[in-house]
Amino acid sequence: MSYERKMLEDLKMPTRKEIEQALLKSLFNNNGVIKEFGVGEKIVEEIANDFGLNEEQRTTYLETVYKKENRVKKSYLWHRLLFRAADSLAKEKLISRPTQTVLLTNKKEWMLTEDGYNRTLEILHIPLTQKEILPIKSYEVQKMVKKICEQERPENYNPFENKKTVKITRETKFRNRAFKQAIREAYDFKCAVCGMKIYSPNTLIWEVEAAHIVPHSVNGKDDILNGLALCRLHHWAFDVGWFTLEDNFKILASSRIKDLSAGFGKLENYDFMGQLSKENLIISLPKEENIYPHPKAIKWHRENIFCC
Ligand SMILES: [Zn+2]
Repeated sequence: MSYERKMLEDLKMPTRKEIEQALLKSLFNNNGVIKEFGVGEKIVEEIANDFGLNEEQRTTYLETVYKKENRVKKSYLWHRLLFRAADSLAKEKLISRPTQTVLLTNKKEWMLTEDGYNRTLEILHIPLTQKEILPIKSYEVQKMVKKICEQERPENYNPFENKKTVKITRETKFRNRAFKQAIREAYDFKCAVCGMKIYSPNTLIWEVEAAHIVPHSVNGKDDILNGLALCRLHHWAFDVGWFTLEDNFKILASSRIKDLSAGFGKLENYDFMGQLSKENLIISLPKEENIYPHPKAIKWHRENIFCC
């Protein structure tokens, strides 16, 4: 028996398969990404805690002899096992390597691929349909998010999807998820009107929604120039025409707000509807100007949805 194998048995370390599953679960609990495994990294401790590893299991060194350089390298056995499990998942194309992910997000992280995401949902007994709701990052979707954010901003933008030309490909299948992710990221997970930023207690689901300016129901594009991040209340108020935007992103509120009964549209002492009518209220916008909502989409909303 090899020196390493004996060590694994003596210490009763978890098996590669067990660690692989634990990694997939951790990726899921961390929105699809985890950092490289380094000393002091939270994730390394978290997974060790899940296995209930004792101090010895966490801190035993593995000595590797580098014959070429004639030196001995010492590293934590536990870190090595984590890396090997991740490496094996990457070989199966269930996760992307940090060297690959960094080119996409500028962060050295392991990231789930679509296949890895599917496998994880299977392990956790979560139906695949939940993918539309859960904001878990996947390599393929993030690739599309990047594409969406780097697209050109044509003067003569058409916010409508030409349904005839849309081919259902593997790409279009997760276009909607990429749209939601791109909008939420661009607006820093905050409502563009009120600034509300909040997630679920397990930190998985952001409250803020990606709203279409020209709605999906009339073939509005899943496109950042046709989108806006809004909390649920403002999303609703925007969709039914209580407010719209001017070309300079000022909020234009319906004159019908003043006709509302005294008890309507209020949250305790906060006048939710009245707030919209405040003068010179400008929405919060993304950092990069090229992904601001397009005036052509806003104009359509003003003329077709807004109740002046
Ligand atoms: Zn809001």
